[in-house]
Amino acid sequence: MSIDRIYEQVVNRNPGEVEFHQAVREVLESIEPAIEKHPEFMSSKVIERLVEPERVIMFRVPWVDDSGEVQVNRGFRVQFNSAIGPYKGGLRFHPSVYLGIIKFLGFEQIFKNALTGLAMGGGKGGSDFDPKGKSDTEVMNFCQSFMTELSRHVGPDTDVPAGDIGVGRREIGYMFGQYKRLVNRFEGVLTGKGPEWGGSLGRPEATGYGLVYFTQEMLKAQGDDLKGKTVSISGSGNVAQFALDKCLQLGAKVVTLSDSSGCIYDPDGIGRDKFEYVVRLKEIKRGRIKEYAEEYDVEYVDGGRPWDYPCDIALPSATQNELDGADANTLADNGVMAVAEGANMPSTPEAIEVFLEKGILFGPAKAANAGGVSVSGLEMSQNSQRLSWSFQEVDQKLQEIMRNIYLTTAENGKKYGAEGNFVVGANVGGFMKVARAMMDLGVI
Ligand code: NDP
Repeated sequence: MSIDRIYEQVVNRNPGEVEFHQAVREVLESIEPAIEKHPEFMSSKVIERLVEPERVIMFRVPWVDDSGEVQVNRGFRVQFNSAIGPYKGGLRFHPSVYLGIIKFLGFEQIFKNALTGLAMGGGKGGSDFDPKGKSDTEVMNFCQSFMTELSRHVGPDTDVPAGDIGVGRREIGYMFGQYKRLVNRFEGVLTGKGPEWGGSLGRPEATGYGLVYFTQEMLKAQGDDLKGKTVSISGSGNVAQFALDKCLQLGAKVVTLSDSSGCIYDPDGIGRDKFEYVVRLKEIKRGRIKEYAEEYDVEYVDGGRPWDYPCDIALPSATQNELDGADANTLADNGVMAVAEGANMPSTPEAIEVFLEKGILFGPAKAANAGGVSVSGLEMSQNSQRLSWSFQEVDQKLQEIMRNIYLTTAENGKKYGAEGNFVVGANVGGFMKVARAMMDLGVI
């Protein structure tokens, strides 16, 4: 069956799951040169098997809110591919979550995890539950109910979830507590845990720091670096905050942040004090980014996104499809030199086309944001050994991993006739490892 026909079949078999279709299309288009060189992948139906999850779990999550009313949400875990290791990938709690979002994220995770060089398969999960505006007790009730079902399907050698949008240390804590109580074992079933109860130092920082390390590698290859550059970041959650932190450490000036309500622009730069204000605002007060504009008297655009403001580097770090073709053209017209994806699939296909056509350095999510899952992999290793490594040790390993991901990505682009195209490089790099493993393991 041709690649086009496989894609058609994916669309027909998974109606309405538009984000999943988009993620599959990008991968299938970019691995074509690798498939031409390896006809055995087609005859063994590796691609047809790859696009079908090994297992999809969907379940009811009933819980009681503060007024005593019963609420019902829907929970998901998609165990996509375990050819190279236990399923690994985050849990997302957001009202927009449905099967198509979890499948797109789980599918991308297969290739991302392969690129890290660690033994991790791909999976993803979550719920349409919205933690925003809920009390701690409500979040705990929900998390305990969610884990009561999920605990039947996960385990330290089977499937190890982590956080994602709407799931941070608080949610991981409530879920880990419930798992431990149900199975009566203290084991590494989740990553992103607190350092006092099995978490790795450096995990909260890992995705944002890794994103900036990857960006540095792209710039370094051009004889440049981040020092003195103006950076636009979207989002103001985990990834955005630590990307900002690392940009500050490396001497760059960050001028934007956003949330789902709007965007702020601070032309003087979000310095150390302002960064600490953002962390308090988002992690403790759980407030809106608009309050930053009120505090520091800067521009706030309701419903706005950061891409209209001039910058050298853009780091989209909020959510999928948050940067479209028109935004990409605006960024290009304003002289952007590099874009690296902190979020998963934040750039639409049209935006990616603009970046590639105009020769703008473009780091796709699978490579650029793989730092988070990499340190999750390191957390799994520490849990298995019952050891904790220092922050410096973890950060050093993260830097090495991001450098290796950059090299794998750059080399594979070149090898398959697309030098400088890191989309092809990342997809082929991840795909080759998983495809070879699937061949070795037989038809399963
Ligand atoms: P958080 O929940 O900590 O933060 C998410 C941020 O994005 C918030 O500022 C949120 O605003 C904003 N956001 C969420 N949904 C939308 C939307 N529909 N439109 C506009 N803004 C939105 O999540 P993370 O920082 O962990 O995740 C951000 C992205 O990074 C996601 O794509 C995630 O998949 C990806 N990622 C995360 C990793 C991790 O380790 N955490 C690892 C790899 C990728 P608001 O508060 O208003 O909702």
